[in-house]
Amino acid sequence: MAHTRCEQCGNQTPPWDTIHCGSGDGHYELLCTSCFNARIAESAGFTDFENVRLDPIELIDCEGDAHQFHFQLRLLGARIALDGFELRGELPAGYRFQLIGETDDDVFVLLGRLVEKIRRALSVRHIDFHERQIVDSTVRGRIEWDESQPGHFPLVVVDGKEVSWAELGGMLMSMEGWQFRLDIADPSEEL
Ligand SMILES: [Zn+2]
Repeated sequence: MAHTRCEQCGNQTPPWDTIHCGSGDGHYELLCTSCFNARIAESAGFTDFENVRLDPIELIDCEGDAHQFHFQLRLLGARIALDGFELRGELPAGYRFQLIGETDDDVFVLLGRLVEKIRRALSVRHIDFHERQIVDSTVRGRIEWDESQPGHFPLVVVDGKEVSWAELGGMLMSMEGWQFRLDIADPSEEL
């Protein structure tokens, strides 16, 4: 996928490192993360906010498979959001994690906490993708849009892999008669 050009600094930027930024007059600009943060810092008066470039890191899951995580740090007024995600092409796909901190938090302390959170998640497997069944009695994942089911059914991402609503339903049929509980949580909460 082609890189896009930041409308502020003009740098070619991969799509995952850009943000659509709305100005007061309803006009939207595509900014790179650095320019977005600089703009928020300026308007909020955070003169000592430092844009930090976080290099991708590779982590191994409990099956021995490697996952490369990219990071995006966004200044959101008095808080900062740190996202860690895998890419497919140049768009986020697979595992995705978020941590919310305060503007004066040390970014590298936040990064350490996010990496610990990712490690905890990678150490657990919920679905046996060969047997197409739920390993234990808990499934954790993320709700996403399913391109093939426009708006009708979600696609869930479990263990960093996409599972259609029908596939998940099929896996539940081996537990017919059992009870279940469905909890929904904010992207930054620990499940
Ligand atoms: Zn820029």
